[in-house]
Amino acid sequence: MSHLISARLISVLLLASSLLIAPLAVAEEVIVYSARIEQLIKPMFDAFTHETGIKVKYTTDNEGALLARLQAEGKNTPADMLITVDAGNLWAAAQSGLLKPVRSELLENNIPPHLRDPDHEWFGLSVRARTIIYNTKKVNPSELSTYEDLADPKWHKRLCLRSSKKVYNQSLVAMMLAEHGAADTEKVVKGWVANLATPPLPDDTKALEYVAAGKCDVTVVNTYYFGRLMHKDPDLPLAVFWPNQQSTGVHVNVSGAGITRYGRNQKNAVKLLEFLSSSKAQNLFADLNMEYPANPAIKPDTFVAGWGTFKQNPLNLSKAGELQTTAVKLMDRVGYQ
Ligand code: FE
Repeated sequence: MSHLISARLISVLLLASSLLIAPLAVAEEVIVYSARIEQLIKPMFDAFTHETGIKVKYTTDNEGALLARLQAEGKNTPADMLITVDAGNLWAAAQSGLLKPVRSELLENNIPPHLRDPDHEWFGLSVRARTIIYNTKKVNPSELSTYEDLADPKWHKRLCLRSSKKVYNQSLVAMMLAEHGAADTEKVVKGWVANLATPPLPDDTKALEYVAAGKCDVTVVNTYYFGRLMHKDPDLPLAVFWPNQQSTGVHVNVSGAGITRYGRNQKNAVKLLEFLSSSKAQNLFADLNMEYPANPAIKPDTFVAGWGTFKQNPLNLSKAGELQTTAVKLMDRVGYQ
């Protein structure tokens, strides 16, 4: 009898313990806040879940809202990972104490040093090249050389630029500040403003459309906007020029990620971050938006590869964050709206 009871007791205990373990096993997950839209992240998350069994839950919003939310939630945040665009935003998140350093040999091997935080708090996952696009009927590419040269009077009333309010050109100017110092950078940006054919435009696509329509001859945009436009209309008289190939290299930026300081699933979040840097995810991460893989071992999509290869600026992208405020003030000072 006591034998029977103890057997039943054991089975009850086993059942109870399996019930205790079961919810823990189901809770293998990572929670992501992403400024990259769903269609650009879900395929990689699905691949990660397929490989590891770890679920990925995510919320998408613009970067400002996500940073504010992480800040307001503090230690109670449900988020384990932040994905956002532009090194300036990643730098700001790290600067606000929202991220936690990650030491991972895999990440350090997969992502080149200039595309990740020297303090290991964020890692670039795709590269966006901000380059010169010109009207093929109005510009001979031999006229082109550098971003700085677009300040030369020979480009008078031939240049279109996106508004200085967007972080993209702020980052470009911040990197120039790191390379040339304030006085020389100011001369260049002043020259750009003097060469504008139209007031600064609201977005990169508009700038490309203006160049295609002959309202100006050259502009500076992220290549994926060029890719989207050419995909729609391959006959547009537009072509890519890779500037600064004899000097500093093409200005690049990243979309990337960091692990939140107070997330509860940090081990899984690191696994996801490592996965995103691996060959399995890198093509998905870059190709879906016509960007370049951050991992140099991975080739870009063939359409993107058709624009040619180029030397990237090897200066660490944290400079774009550090000097962003100085860049904004400089742009303001010279009347770049
Ligand atoms: Fe963009």
